[in-house]
Amino acid sequence: MNNSKKIILVSPRGFCAGVTRAIDVVLEALKKYGAPVYVNHEIVHNKHVIAELMEKGAIFLKNIKDAPSNRPIIFSAHGVSKKITNYAKSNNETIIDATCPLVTKVHVQADKFYKLGFKIILIGHKNHPEVEGTMGQLPGDSIYLVETIKDISELNFYEDDKIAYVTQTTLSVDDTQDMIAELRNKFPNIESSPKEDICYATSNRQNAIKEYANKCDAFIVVGSKNSSNSNRLVEVAKNAGCFNSYLLENAESLNVSNYASYNTIGISSGASVPEVLVENVISKFQENYSLEIENVSLGEEDVQFKLPKEVRN
Ligand code: SF4
Repeated sequence: MNNSKKIILVSPRGFCAGVTRAIDVVLEALKKYGAPVYVNHEIVHNKHVIAELMEKGAIFLKNIKDAPSNRPIIFSAHGVSKKITNYAKSNNETIIDATCPLVTKVHVQADKFYKLGFKIILIGHKNHPEVEGTMGQLPGDSIYLVETIKDISELNFYEDDKIAYVTQTTLSVDDTQDMIAELRNKFPNIESSPKEDICYATSNRQNAIKEYANKCDAFIVVGSKNSSNSNRLVEVAKNAGCFNSYLLENAESLNVSNYASYNTIGISSGASVPEVLVENVISKFQENYSLEIENVSLGEEDVQFKLPKEVRN
């Protein structure tokens, strides 16, 4: 067995500005209003983050109707439908919206298209909370979800329908380009948002992995199973030529012996993953192998979002 390994630690990785803001919203709400505070859905898709916030007094709900009206209710970073916003407005005294501003941007754009008389196509993954939130901004007969090229082939509009598309923020950049090419092919006059809907953090993490994954024998993306952007990173690593690419929840789920035959292992993490989880994975390798760690980066990120006024100091 080879007792030394090289780790290529890829940046940008980990927390994006929207996740940092959403977690800060819960922490500030706990400070300002005391425990418990209620959160509609998991604030971000990471088990570790959820467990820490629960310990501090946050309660995560599957159904907003379970939130008592006299305690703050927080909307998660993924955003919510108008139906949920309206429900909260009539039932909850304090609403704090931690929707990532880049998701809100997509909501606003979809609404603009709708008001201009467009039918809207949303490229995204069914049942993902962000998709439910974006679909739920508009009446059901004006927004259509497509997940695959086949879904596009099944779309039927009248010849004089005005059509536009928006996308989920955490999709694979490459797969989405193929979908958009197909949409443009089928609907040559289709309109789109003036700027990409896929967010900077998703693109940056995918681009960095694309650059470095083919230099690795195996690639680990630290992230939770229900994290869309983390799953896309594993696909990107595989598509970049590193077929032994895996999603890993945390160090506890790492079996180092599975990596015994790989000399160079790449590591990155999804946008909802605290850096300590990456550090723990490296420590576990360090307990078993002598490591050479190379830090590589495809640029810095300096995006920051303001907290909502309900929790701003
Ligand atoms: S991944 Fe992108 S859209 Fe999602 S919270 Fe982060 S910055 Fe916002």
